[in-house]
Amino acid sequence: MKKAINWILLAAFVVFCLDWAALGVKLLSGSYDILVEVSIGAVCWVVIIVCILLRLFSNRCPHCGKPIDPAGNYCPHCGKKLN
Ligand SMILES: [Zn+2]
Repeated sequence: MKKAINWILLAAFVVFCLDWAALGVKLLSGSYDILVEVSIGAVCWVVIIVCILLRLFSNRCPHCGKPIDPAGNYCPHCGKKLN
């Protein structure tokens, strides 16, 4: 589940970068028909924000449900091993 979120986040970020590169090229070449690029960029932003929120809320111990430090291997509340 967490890995899936990371991959979606990465994919959305890459698409966002490519989209803005395409938008920049279009603007530099004098074309202001950028509605598609702006729409894709907005969708990517929403996906990125949702993934970041999901990651924040998924940093919880699977045993006791309390928030945990994602860098640690053991829950500071119940002492059980994470993942
Ligand atoms: Zn715990």
